[in-house]
Order: sequence, then C-alpha cells, then structure tokens
Amino acid sequence: MSTFNGVINEFPGIAVDLFEVLTSKLFFLSHCHSDHMRGLLENKDKLLGKIVLSEISAIFVKKQFGIRDEQLYVLKVSDESPNEVSYEYEGKETTICVTLLPAQHCPGSVMFLFQSEDKNILYTGDFRISSCRFEKYSILTSLTLHELYLDSTFLTKEYDYFPTQVESVREICSLINKWLNENSDNKVFIKAPAQYSLEFLLMNIARKCKEKVFVPEQLQDKYIYFEVLDDVISSNKFNSRIFLETGDTFKGKASFNPHNMILKPSALFWKRLSKGDKFSRVFDSNEFRVAYSSHCSLQELKEFIEFLKPVKIFLNVKNSETIQTLNSFWKSTEEKEIEKEDLSGKLEQFQRRLDRIIETSDTKMLTKRIKL
Ligand SMILES: [Zn+2]
Repeated sequence: MSTFNGVINEFPGIAVDLFEVLTSKLFFLSHCHSDHMRGLLENKDKLLGKIVLSEISAIFVKKQFGIRDEQLYVLKVSDESPNEVSYEYEGKETTICVTLLPAQHCPGSVMFLFQSEDKNILYTGDFRISSCRFEKYSILTSLTLHELYLDSTFLTKEYDYFPTQVESVREICSLINKWLNENSDNKVFIKAPAQYSLEFLLMNIARKCKEKVFVPEQLQDKYIYFEVLDDVISSNKFNSRIFLETGDTFKGKASFNPHNMILKPSALFWKRLSKGDKFSRVFDSNEFRVAYSSHCSLQELKEFIEFLKPVKIFLNVKNSETIQTLNSFWKSTEEKEIEKEDLSGKLEQFQRRLDRIIETSDTKMLTKRIKL
C-alpha cells in the first residue's frame, strides 16, 4: 500500500498519485488502484490542473469517476516520445519533459520519467519488472538518474524471491486446465487478494484456458471500461466455469463442494521463497495456493537499482523495515562520494606521516607502520 505523499521535491506544484493537495497545478496518475487515486473522486471538480495519464487509465477515470476530457492530458506509453508539459506555479512557468514507460503492474499502469534541464527523475508507481525485460528500458541507462521514487512494497528480506509472472501464470493455468478437464461439473473459484491486482492474470487465464472469467458485480461495473478486458470478463454466472471472488463475496462458500477448486494466488503468503522452490501448494484436496505478485521481489528491486544506478532513492512504501533493508545493500552515490573523499583524506594523512617518518629516519617506526 503506497504511503507516497505525492510530492516530487524537484518540481513544486505537481502532485503524483495524490489528489488531495489542491494548490497543485499539474497531476499525474500512474495507474487506477485506489491507493494511488486518493482524493480524486472527492476533489475532481476542484483540481486546478490537468491529470497526466495513459490512454487506458483515462478511459477508466472518465467512465468511473466522471472526469471530463478537458481535465485530462493523455500521453502514449513509449520511450520514443518524451512529452513537454508546462504549468504555472507561484507565478513561474515550468516545463517538464515526461516519458511514460510500461510498469507491468496492471492494465494502463505506467512509470513516469521526469526530466528538467539538469535533473532526471523516475517515479515507478507500482511495478513488476524482471531483469529479462531490462533491455526495453535502455532509455533509463543512457542518462544519469538523479532520483528514483521506488515501489518498495516488498523491499524486505522475507520476500527475497517470487517466481516471474510468466511462471506463476503457467502454473495457475495448468492447475485450472487440469481441474476443468477432470469433470464437466468442476468449477474454479479464484480468491483475489485485493479488489484489483489480478487483471493481467485474468487476461492470461481467458487466453490459455479458453474460458471467460465471471467477476462480482462491483468489479464488472469497473472492468467494463477496460477494452482490453472485453474478451476476458463474463457477466453470465450460469455459463461460466471460472469465477473471481473478492473478500466481500468469497466467505469460503465454494470450498464445501468437492467439484469446486479454490485458487488463491497471492504474494504475502509466500515468505522466504527461493529460486527452484515449489511455489504452489494444495490443502484439503481442493484448495490451491500459488505465488503470484504484481510487485517486484527484493531480488528484482536490487537488480533494478543496480541497473539504474540512481543517485538518490525515495521509498514509496516507507517504514522501518523497508528503510533498513535498503540501507543494508545500497548507499546513495552522494554518500559514496563522501566516503571516497574521506578515504582519500585518510590516505593523504597516512602519506604525510610516512614522509615525516622517512625524513626523521625513524626506521623502527617505519617498519611498524608498513607492517600495519
Ligand atoms: Zn497498484
């Protein structure tokens, strides 16, 4: 759950994934999950600036929240088309160059690369990018990244490793296909860990299992606006065999029928997983748990940081655990510079002492120093 306060220090006057600071003159929305849209519904008619977002997110906020076209600044997701966006704040005109990069978290989710004349800043929103996809983000290594605002949901040692989404999807689809093929009365109930989070998984299930997924009414109302989900979501309960259940609708009712498979894809359950470990488990013959995450594991975060080599990192999920974990493996480039200065200072001191010893021909002391 993001605790980010919406502020990018370098650009006063903009607000990212927060719609509660009403003095802001330009807004950015990375994706349409509720913890990134705080204040949007309540303040939609009071916002003093446009909202920058992807095409898919725009469809959602228009249909679901009644946001008007003229309130939106829709940009393409592409590293080939940086966009200049201007806004006026406290009498000063500011222009930022913004690039939208895919965040691989949910439909329409993006990362924002903000560039001014002297600063490059990446805000990841929520993201899941494994190292095998880094080549698609080469724009980020062709520059010095001064600041990284990082999705640190799983920046903790307990979640060092998750299978890739491709591996999780493969396992889940194989379990579903096997179950459905065993008996024509068999059905699958997928228990979602949060109201939104499984959209990519549902898209893959519909394609690989050749079955649309029935979702609860409150989600149907929202998913209907995502064109990409047209071939994925079923609104007919009676001819569906795969059902998505959220916390509100689930209540364990399906588990008593032996024809019903209960499938629980989640990340939180899978603490201390390692590469090569089995990441699906069966309980009571019809309840299956599979590791599935739409956020990066600690290992993936480390690789991403190593790939970007940012000067400074700000955590979007900030608590004692995430701060401690970051400090255990990463130092800001600025800190490293200070250390380098310290070290060269110490070397100079040592050299001066050595020179003095040689000048005074104190060979005994010299031998002692060299041994040290
Ligand atoms: Zn999210």
